[in-house]
Amino acid sequence: METYDYIIAGTGAAGLSLAFYLAQSPLKDKKVLLIDKHIKNQNDRTWCFWQNGISDFEDIIYKSWENISFYSSNFTEKINIKPYHYKMIRGIDFYNFVQDFIRKNTSFKWLQADIQHFDSTQKFPILHTNDQKFQTEYIFDGTWNFSENFQKKQDYHYLYQHFKGWFIESKQLIFDAETMHYMDFRVPQKAGEVRFGYVLPFSPNKGLVEFTIFSDNILSKGQYIQELQHYLENILQISDYSIYDEEFGIIPMFDEPFPQSKHPNIISIGTKAGCAKASTGFTFDRIQRHSKQIVENLIKGKKDIQPTFAKKYSLYDSALLNVIHKNRLSSEEVFGRMFQKHPVHRIFRFLDEESSILEDIQIMNSMPWMPFIKAIGQNILRK
Ligand SMILES: Cc1cc2nc3c(=O)[nH]c(=O)nc-3n(C[C@H](O)[C@H](O)[C@H](O)COP(=O)(O)OP(=O)(O)OC[C@H]3O[C@@H](n4cnc5c(N)ncnc54)[C@H](O)[C@@H]3O)c2cc1C
Repeated sequence: METYDYIIAGTGAAGLSLAFYLAQSPLKDKKVLLIDKHIKNQNDRTWCFWQNGISDFEDIIYKSWENISFYSSNFTEKINIKPYHYKMIRGIDFYNFVQDFIRKNTSFKWLQADIQHFDSTQKFPILHTNDQKFQTEYIFDGTWNFSENFQKKQDYHYLYQHFKGWFIESKQLIFDAETMHYMDFRVPQKAGEVRFGYVLPFSPNKGLVEFTIFSDNILSKGQYIQELQHYLENILQISDYSIYDEEFGIIPMFDEPFPQSKHPNIISIGTKAGCAKASTGFTFDRIQRHSKQIVENLIKGKKDIQPTFAKKYSLYDSALLNVIHKNRLSSEEVFGRMFQKHPVHRIFRFLDEESSILEDIQIMNSMPWMPFIKAIGQNILRK
């Protein structure tokens, strides 16, 4: 049986990010195996995140915006987010960039294979594919797959952020290319859900337009198309366009922590580690922080490799999920109040889980208390 120091199972955003930071660390000469069932050579998604500073992936930023716009029935504004930028990376550019970097700078091995299971009965775990097995000190497991078939606990919230987007092009000038639409609540709303439009303009006549929902159920293909078409044609008033690509995604927004392996040397990464923020679905930037922390923990020889997320934000996220799901307050009002009453840097710090207690109180003070008190009360009582 072949042995490795580390095996990275799943080379999506998290697996590749972890490999990227390992490759720049004193651990770059470790014997590392990267396994995925797919060759990552498709542009299967776009990642966006806000940032005050330079990204580790600045060379492959496809487009960044200094302005975001927010639309709701009570508050509509174009907001300059400087010193932040809202940045976008195309999946294919990320896969190529990281794979090239690793190939040039390390002797990490690559394998395309379907991982069957991990044997955790030994001191060091064993990874099984269809026809091979490998033993290693650590398995980093980023094999996230969407499934609705899992055991749900009572009183936890299992929402999904699901969205359909079209990359469109028009002969007319249809976009302000320097302003992305962060949340556009002019789309029809439904109780117990959040629905909004989202636009990433690449140029005055080219961009990605999406229809997004936070809810506990997935729609049929036709429903996404209908809603997206309605947003494009009736709200954005764009009728003369052609679609040159599309994307669809489902991101978990769960407040129950993902089940983790009992084996101390099988470490979840990415979505499986809870990197998708429960209240927003933003994951990419959290994956970067999480991966860097794992590498630091390995370098320091820490016994506990898995980074933890700050508890107070899990409580806030859980309260918001409860408010949305139980329809205690419309999400349009929650997000509208946030953007109306606070400078954007405070909101980003809060969502990045870097806010001070004073900032937390300022944000909470801008919300009506009762829906959140009821939500927190219900969450505290769950087992
Ligand atoms: C279309 C789309 C757009 C998104 N946009 C944003 C965004 O703008 N901003 C943001 O913050 N987040 C976004 N996300 C959410 C999140 O950032 C991504 O889902 C991200 O790719 C999650 O990283 P991951 O490594 O956990 O999972 P993935 O990137 O999905 O990687 C999982 C990998 O595991 C592999 N795998 C699974 N099972 C096996 C197996 N049995 N054997 C071998 N390999 C296996 C898969 O092939 C895959 O490569 C988006 C998600 C989607 C789907």
